[in-house]
Amino acid sequence: MRYHVMTLFPEIIESCMKSSITGRAIDAGILSLSAVNIRDYAFNKHQKVDDYTYGGGAGMLMQAEPVYLCWESIAGNLPRKPRTIYLTPQGRLFDQQMARELAQEEDLIFLCGHYEGIDERVLEEVVTDQVSIGDYVLTGGELPALVMMDAISRMVPGVLGNEESGETESFSGGLLEYPQYSRPMVWHGREVPEVLMSGHHANVDKWRRERSIERTVRNRPDLLKKAELTNQEWAYVRELKRRLKEEQQTAKEEEIPEERGQADEDI
Ligand code: SAM
Repeated sequence: MRYHVMTLFPEIIESCMKSSITGRAIDAGILSLSAVNIRDYAFNKHQKVDDYTYGGGAGMLMQAEPVYLCWESIAGNLPRKPRTIYLTPQGRLFDQQMARELAQEEDLIFLCGHYEGIDERVLEEVVTDQVSIGDYVLTGGELPALVMMDAISRMVPGVLGNEESGETESFSGGLLEYPQYSRPMVWHGREVPEVLMSGHHANVDKWRRERSIERTVRNRPDLLKKAELTNQEWAYVRELKRRLKEEQQTAKEEEIPEERGQADEDI
């Protein structure tokens, strides 16, 4: 996988990507990274890349020409037109499925905006995908590009030491991951679940699967729509949902007398 990042802050991209797991993968030649400064393609006196917006309004906009020239210098050296991803809060929401899909590409170009964004015309000309990392607005596209590259890299064969670990994590099969424990066996009086020390693999797998389902039902029930479950597991989901509703109802009921008690004291 070759990453090409168009940015006004190449040092942010390089310092993050060259550390830890992605850094090791770059050293091993599994990934490559070039962070290109868009400012190097602004051929004016002060290498200015932004200007006021037509029609008025607050803030500055990145101009089309430096972005285009920067993109051309990257794409012009590649064998075919690469996927060019513009990071924007207006894009399709990034998820694990998209990470898996993008990990199949040989080259990916990321375009990081700044200020109020980028002149629409150059986006129309070079961008193939507009992607958002969440429903909030950041100051620049660098953190979103780093988030995407990190998640994509984990799906590139050889990047993770243990190939399996990328496949058993949260979101694989539409479920969140089960809880995990390491030594010591007892910490702050909390014991590791006995089944995990039993050495009985089938029971361990069953326990983990159930905890995965349970976590997903509690924390991200929206994921269940795409989960791959057996009929028996769907029955378990229904049972968990019923129990959860009961718990919520009990919690609500317990809240009321407390509030009433407080109100009585206040009177
Ligand atoms: N005016 C733009 C709008 O309302 O859509 C927001 C511009 S934002 C301040 C500056 C840059 O940060 C964007 O061009 C984009 O590259 C990046 N950015 C901000 N939030 C983002 C998000 N949630 N996902 C991806 N990129 C984001």
